[in-house]
Amino acid sequence: MRLIIVGPPGAGKGTQAESIIEKYQIPHISTGDILRENIKNETHLGKEAKKFMDHGDLVPDHLVVALIQDRLSREDCKNGFLLDGFPRTVAQAVALDAQLKKLGIKLDRVININVDDDLLIERAVGRRVCKTCKATYHVKYNPPKEEGVCDIDGGELIQRDDDTEKTVKNRIKVYHEQTAPLVDYYRAQGLILNIDGSKAIGDVFDQIVKGLA
Ligand SMILES: [Zn+2]
Repeated sequence: MRLIIVGPPGAGKGTQAESIIEKYQIPHISTGDILRENIKNETHLGKEAKKFMDHGDLVPDHLVVALIQDRLSREDCKNGFLLDGFPRTVAQAVALDAQLKKLGIKLDRVININVDDDLLIERAVGRRVCKTCKATYHVKYNPPKEEGVCDIDGGELIQRDDDTEKTVKNRIKVYHEQTAPLVDYYRAQGLILNIDGSKAIGDVFDQIVKGLA
């Protein structure tokens, strides 16, 4: 199974990705992990990428593509993979297509997790995190027994700086701007599998499994 997963911040993409790799026994390939690994192992590409990151710059497309190419050519990707966070742009998607063609393989599906913006905002803005143990709560969907207090250790529950309405709205806006062209690109290839991400975690996973069957 050769898959890509996309979804807005807060849609539960990470949780679904974990279930997918477990069920289909494929590696989870995320740009962040690959970058960290290459930098840690001081590979040629890792050193190149680090130069940009040290300056606070984005790692340029050609490097990201090269890192992904290197990763996809490894043995554990023979039976498939789940790409997460790549491609981010149509240019990257075109580069990926060229690479897959060279390897003689094709993508099976692009899993597109959809959640209404209003619900994403509600989920994020209502999130509370324990200062001590980092346990997460939600004021409406998963409230602690006592308001503002962690059930586990009595720690103070706080709202993270990046969970304010303004930040969350901006994060979602950036996501839509980036991802809409990408979804269009894969829709034209008939690869998009639309998933309703507003449902419970188990229901969302059931939709994915049915869609991939
Ligand atoms: Zn706690």
